[in-house]
Amino acid sequence: MSAKRSFPDPAALAPEVKCSRCPGSRCCTYVTQAIDTPRSMADFDILLWQLAHRNVEVYQDEDGWYLTFLTPCRFLEADGRCGIYPTRPQICRDHSNDWCEFDADPADDFRHYFRTYEELDAYCRSRFRNWDKRFEKGRGKRKD
Ligand code: SF4
Ligand code: SF4
Repeated sequence: MSAKRSFPDPAALAPEVKCSRCPGSRCCTYVTQAIDTPRSMADFDILLWQLAHRNVEVYQDEDGWYLTFLTPCRFLEADGRCGIYPTRPQICRDHSNDWCEFDADPADDFRHYFRTYEELDAYCRSRFRNWDKRFEKGRGKRKD
């Protein structure tokens, strides 16, 4: 038998208490980095290499393409508080809890969302008919 966790309704929480009730302090558990829009097979091959690493994802939303690194901040304490609150970085200060990861999954608005190497590889195969031929240009140049 599995027990289902029940989370509080974010809309019912006042902003002052919302973060303290947020399961896992979600906004402190990953970082994102904007990347150039991938267009060529070489661009997507680089993305494939990045997704070959654990806890790396890539998505596109209305603002562009981003890498996500699913790794909690080392200053996130066990009780969900920030261990460096008075000196936390500006980006943490600017992050509003008015409408945040606790209210809705950001992935709901993604145009593309690749969580694994296999998902991106399948997309590349549908986007590029000659995906498997991308290595041919360099053949014969490698010295073993
Ligand atoms: S800002 Fe949102 S996601 Fe971050 S800890 Fe507060 S409620 Fe959770
Ligand atoms: S510095 Fe504090 S507020 Fe910023 S991500 Fe880390 S734990 Fe969260």
